[in-house]
Amino acid sequence: MKRVVVVGSANADLVVEVPRRPGGGETLIGSELRTLPGGKGANQAAAAARAGADTSFVGCVGKDGNGALLRGQLLAAGVDVTSLEEVDAATGTAIILLTPDGENSIVVSPGANSAFDRAAAERLAPVWRSAAVVVLSLEIPHETAFHVAASAAASGSRVLLNAAPAIAVRREVLQCCDPLVVNEHEAREVLGAAENDPDASDYARLARRLLLAGARSVVVTLGADGAIVAEGPAAAPELVSVPAYRVEAVDTTGAGDAFVGAAAAELARGCSLLDAVRFATAVSAVSVQRVGAQSSYASRAEVEAFIS
Ligand code: ATP
Repeated sequence: MKRVVVVGSANADLVVEVPRRPGGGETLIGSELRTLPGGKGANQAAAAARAGADTSFVGCVGKDGNGALLRGQLLAAGVDVTSLEEVDAATGTAIILLTPDGENSIVVSPGANSAFDRAAAERLAPVWRSAAVVVLSLEIPHETAFHVAASAAASGSRVLLNAAPAIAVRREVLQCCDPLVVNEHEAREVLGAAENDPDASDYARLARRLLLAGARSVVVTLGADGAIVAEGPAAAPELVSVPAYRVEAVDTTGAGDAFVGAAAAELARGCSLLDAVRFATAVSAVSVQRVGAQSSYASRAEVEAFIS
């Protein structure tokens, strides 16, 4: 089977519910602490494996309990973790304050993810260079991600870059992306466009501008409004809007990662980008109806039952 290799971050999500955000110098009592598996890379790998792809995860955790938790959860999702390295740093953590207004506050301490430098990527190159699809996101050092993108594309792998958290991305990196996957805010930031850019909320135009900036294909995700797929020549691209399923969303955490992992799984099976996005839309619709990130990802059979 053609393999998906996710090169990215793994974080322990430390989640506390609080009645409101604390102000400067203030101490609040929160709920019991929950420690959940997270990190964009680990979530995407879990979603790809749940969608049925032969999936490997390449990244770093610390030699601590959180690292063991993340390894165990990836294994349980069916991900090959033989290229998950242990380093002398704390496992990455995301400290998440859940407030009743739904505007969660998050602080990420990258920890071991910062150790995933170019030398580590090169050590594990035989794994990602043999992949059908390499999935990258930006919670690891950016230059490592960009190096893997260029090298994997040159070796004939299909590179899916989820440019999140967003930064402006150079043309030579965009030229490796097939597709570039971004949400509406990231689309603007990747282009380096200002908040008051005239196209700021015209997502079809932003998708087209991302093609003009070099991306081979582009997917802009729009939450409950679905996604836009742009491919073909930048001068006359084919733009297709894929609507989201109308569902009762209870927790959208990790919906974007479910989407990316599922799309990568479909691309590895040889599907068209549009069909991959349609399947990913169903996977993420199932995930938003359940609490959590990795724990909300459906198996292929569950998604097929949802679609039919
Ligand atoms: P996050 O950072 O919260 O994981 P994101 O901003 O990267 O997410 P979104 O655009 O919010 O990504 O969501 C990705 C996809 O998930 C959407 O394109 C859509 O198909 C699906 N989705 C998200 N929210 C909903 C919803 N409320 N109802 C149905 N589908 C949804």
